[in-house]
Amino acid sequence: MTPDEKHIKRINKYLTSINVLYNDLVREIALLVVNLKVSEKLFRFKDYSRITKAVSEALMTYNNGLLSKIRTYTEYEWDFANQKVNDLLTDNMNAIKPKIPTTAYDSKMREISKQSQNKKALEVFQERKNGKFTVSERVWNITKQAKENLEFAIDDAFKEGMSAQDLARKIKGNLNNPDALFRRVRDKHGNLQLSKNAKAFHPGQGVYRSAHKNAMRLAANEINTAYRQSEQLRIQGNNDVVGQKINLSPQHKVYDMCDELAGSYPKDFNWSSWHVGCKCFRTMILKSPSELITEINNGQNQSPESSANFVSGVPDNFNSWLSENRETLEKRKSKPYFLEENKKFVS
Ligand SMILES: [Zn+2]
Repeated sequence: MTPDEKHIKRINKYLTSINVLYNDLVREIALLVVNLKVSEKLFRFKDYSRITKAVSEALMTYNNGLLSKIRTYTEYEWDFANQKVNDLLTDNMNAIKPKIPTTAYDSKMREISKQSQNKKALEVFQERKNGKFTVSERVWNITKQAKENLEFAIDDAFKEGMSAQDLARKIKGNLNNPDALFRRVRDKHGNLQLSKNAKAFHPGQGVYRSAHKNAMRLAANEINTAYRQSEQLRIQGNNDVVGQKINLSPQHKVYDMCDELAGSYPKDFNWSSWHVGCKCFRTMILKSPSELITEINNGQNQSPESSANFVSGVPDNFNSWLSENRETLEKRKSKPYFLEENKKFVS
């Protein structure tokens, strides 16, 4: 398995643990709600003062758990990407080791290990704003949405005398199909009562009605971006890397933008994925062994531009994709991050 395949496998494992967090929340809430005397009104936690404090605590546990998991896993993948680059650059040096002086080899190896200390950059990454919000703000929005999701699900699921397990199961079932849930609750109570909660069910573009789905999407995206960002910094910081190639995943079956954008890009083209859930991976384009041997033996550390392998611009297919999609892109409220981040390559 390649490092990137392992990376994707680990993300799935992390998501399982985020799923557990959500199941715990639903179970906790079901336990709190199951013995209530519930009125005919649309179910709202705030109408049941006996449980409001405990509900807030359960939601805070979920909120803090989600945030801390995202923090931990972004750090893991940040380090895994560093390790991937270390291994690759080390292999690259080992391949030419017999042809260069030992002192030069040692200093190259020191340089590689020095570049992997990117903890400050990780902190900046974790605190950054992605669009309008930081990760902790996004998590907080998800928690608020989860609360409203739960109120709807309880409204539809609750029957006096049912067990906490049954209630939890029914809530989860409801939340797996938020569209149908929304319609049922609306039919029961009418539009007027719904107006406030209904907002949670009409989130913006690229966001789901289900808070849990949004949590999974946010986590997967943050963790993947951390891995890519860490890799990016190393690519940009090392003169022996002269470009990057963005490749389709072997699991890629359906033709999409990934096929149209694959290719060799400049090393400072900021890339983490083409779209949410994208499984493309990148490989580094390095100076040739003979170029490296010559410059090291001459006591030099040449710029990337000196290499015959240097990639100076985006591939033609990137520009054709841009012009073919210009109209659609202009209509979109938020541009894909890879256009925002790479303005100098977008003509
Ligand atoms: Zn892709």
